[in-house]
Amino acid sequence: MTRTVDEILAEVVRRLEWAQIEVKKAKEAGTKIVGLYCGYIPFELVRAAGAVPVSLCGSDQAAIPAAEVELPRNFCPLIKSSYGLAITDTCPFFHFADALIGETTCDGKKKVFELLRSLKPVHVMQLPFDTQVPDAYEHWRGELERVGGFLSEVTGVPVTRERLAAEIRIENDIRRLLQRIDRTFERDDPALTWTQMLNVRSLTDFVVDRAPYLKLLEELAEAVEASADGSASSASHGCQPRILVTGTPMSPETNKVMRLAEESGARVVAHDACSGSKSYERLVDEEGDPLDALVRFTLGIPCACMSPNEGRLDLLRRTVATYRVQGVIDTVWMACHTFNVESVLVQRVCRQELGIPCLKIETDYSDADEGQLRTRVDAFVEQMC
Ligand code: SF4
Ligand code: SF4
Repeated sequence: MTRTVDEILAEVVRRLEWAQIEVKKAKEAGTKIVGLYCGYIPFELVRAAGAVPVSLCGSDQAAIPAAEVELPRNFCPLIKSSYGLAITDTCPFFHFADALIGETTCDGKKKVFELLRSLKPVHVMQLPFDTQVPDAYEHWRGELERVGGFLSEVTGVPVTRERLAAEIRIENDIRRLLQRIDRTFERDDPALTWTQMLNVRSLTDFVVDRAPYLKLLEELAEAVEASADGSASSASHGCQPRILVTGTPMSPETNKVMRLAEESGARVVAHDACSGSKSYERLVDEEGDPLDALVRFTLGIPCACMSPNEGRLDLLRRTVATYRVQGVIDTVWMACHTFNVESVLVQRVCRQELGIPCLKIETDYSDADEGQLRTRVDAFVEQMC
């Protein structure tokens, strides 16, 4: 029986709720669980070593006070939440993790990985910050080889070329299906909202068995492609400017800004952060050496921790053109210096080059500023009507 878009999306939410049970079952069956905090660590490598990767980026405001006992209060909420969940042992994914892979993307994270060493085995990858320097590629390839060795020690499974190539094909299949669903946001009136798409994309970070997830994505892709314009549950009447939400990653629990934009009547048609299209808009090369392909793919991630980071602005330009974006909301987590400073460039490109308005919002996980943010977002949306 053919299911509706809403029925499939309801299953996505159910699977997100069950994810911790699936991970627990995998752990009990002897599979190693590896916690990650960033897109620079390829799922393909973890899976090729026979482990299940799970994202440990915290999205729980309730875990922050425990973290603030040790960490500065004026600190990124994503890191505080991740650390609070770890030290209070209240995140099932952290609890089940046999090892953690960290990375030196930002100062806050790299120092917190030093603290996490007292709780779990931690391997930290040293990221080159300028991909144009002559040895960046060789350096990062060495880092991927080292983490492959670490993972094999944890699992007892060697990372072979064949295993890596097979995992790349599977993750690319997921990316292709997410691209198909994403493309429907080019329509005047897409069949789903971006808050719903955030759930779909987020599930990728927790799914143990890729086969049923691929099937679910395929079903959703077919359903949204077949649906008529105007079926999005957020659809309201009147002026609905097309908005890109960019900036720091968010989760279905921390999507305050995206939700406020949709509630204000805007249509969020793109989200080019790591929690959005940045993770699937490109594919890993399936030809040639699979490790080389992963080096090229990961070094091409345009994160604000890179300097310079022209790729972010190119992605912004392409996204605005493809989705006919009329306004950009740049979200920055409090005390995230890299995204905060890069916002100046984002705003310049929007206003001076693309001729569209851009609203920068710096916020945290609490709802204390929700009233004030709603007023700002409403005014921003209204100026486009
Ligand atoms: S925004 Fe940067 S640091 Fe955060 S997950 Fe993405 S690549 Fe990693
Ligand atoms: S949002 Fe910024 S400060 Fe927070 S973890 Fe990501 S890069 Fe680091």
